[in-house]
Amino acid sequence: MTINPYESAKKQILNVYDFLKEKGVSWEFIEEYLYPDRVLQVNIPVKMDNWDVKVFTWYRSQHKSYRGPYKWGIRFHQDVTENEVKALSVWMSVKTWVVDLPLGGWKWWIIVNPKELSQRELEELSRWYVRAIYKYLWPDFDVPAPDVNTNPQIMSWMVDEYSKLVWKFTPGAFTGKPLSIWWSRWRNIATSLGGLYVLEEYFDLEKEEFQGKTVAIQGAGNAGLNFAKLIEKKGVKIVAISDSRGWIYDPDWLNIEKIEKLKQNKQSVTDLPWAEIISNDDILKLDVDILVLAALENQITSENVEDIKAKYILELANWPVSPEADEVLFEKGQVVIPDILANAWGVTVSYFEQVQGNMNYYWPESEVFERLSVIMKKSTKDVYNLAKELKIDFRKASYVISLERQYEAWKVRK
Ligand code: GLU
Repeated sequence: MTINPYESAKKQILNVYDFLKEKGVSWEFIEEYLYPDRVLQVNIPVKMDNWDVKVFTWYRSQHKSYRGPYKWGIRFHQDVTENEVKALSVWMSVKTWVVDLPLGGWKWWIIVNPKELSQRELEELSRWYVRAIYKYLWPDFDVPAPDVNTNPQIMSWMVDEYSKLVWKFTPGAFTGKPLSIWWSRWRNIATSLGGLYVLEEYFDLEKEEFQGKTVAIQGAGNAGLNFAKLIEKKGVKIVAISDSRGWIYDPDWLNIEKIEKLKQNKQSVTDLPWAEIISNDDILKLDVDILVLAALENQITSENVEDIKAKYILELANWPVSPEADEVLFEKGQVVIPDILANAWGVTVSYFEQVQGNMNYYWPESEVFERLSVIMKKSTKDVYNLAKELKIDFRKASYVISLERQYEAWKVRK
């Protein structure tokens, strides 16, 4: 069954309306909030290596910017629908306000499988897009960052093209750049580091033992692998990890260092010569304590939710659990740490990067970490306390916090 992600995003908002009403939030605001401000489609003709011209389509959705520039990631992926882009822009707005950043949400998505492009074609596509829409981008209005299949190199091409077009070196126009052109310290591992922090903080607040827990990780991309490396040092046992080709399982020990080397050589986890290799996606159904979802959307739905055994589910990817599955997991006493809190740390450090770029003054590693820690601690506690008070799951609590904050800004601006 295909689920329309935009409908899911709207449902998540409507699901918390009763709580928001109690807090004085008006329906007028909610109605406006259900729709993005604008959606743009751009078609880019790129000269390929064989001199043929191929047209690539981009979708871009700007959701809301009540208290700061639109912010989010550019994704390169072959499967895309306009509804998905709209949904991701809604989630971005919600996310930035759960952690109280002065930013709004948007999303770009280009229909392409980047693995099929040469480096030159990829560069041409990235630069072409900036040429096509640079008038809509500037550091105070709309600031892109990397997402699935985009990386610091792509951000460098884009910031370079942008700076040439506007005749001004503008590092604050894009985030997630390489350190040599003012990437913020910690940006590369911020999502994984923050996800782990929230999880540990949760165990702390519940006075539960973290050490000794078993972990399965779906997804061995940047977020999944960095998370594995960090959590490995905390005395837990990673027993399974997957990528798009399959997954490996070892009840005793998975050597993450070896897996990382393999991925750096563009191989799959299934190329490892040891451990059990399983090709379908049953990694989700493993009997582990902690399941980390670091792949794509829509993984746990009403169709497989009854088979999910993990007590704790951490969403490092965006929207891996559907609203219907959320309800069932909550009923069964399983805890979902939702994407809008668990993975809000990439954009938090992106915000730091943007601020530093605009000032042309850069903070040392310790200062970035200190600022990040303050936000992580406060946001996790805010969500935890509200969820306990209202007896709701952490996603709903995050929505209530975020939408109430956005409502306050909307009210004084409207
Ligand atoms: N694409 C990432 C996200 O979903 C990062 C966005 C950013 O750094 O602005 O949060």
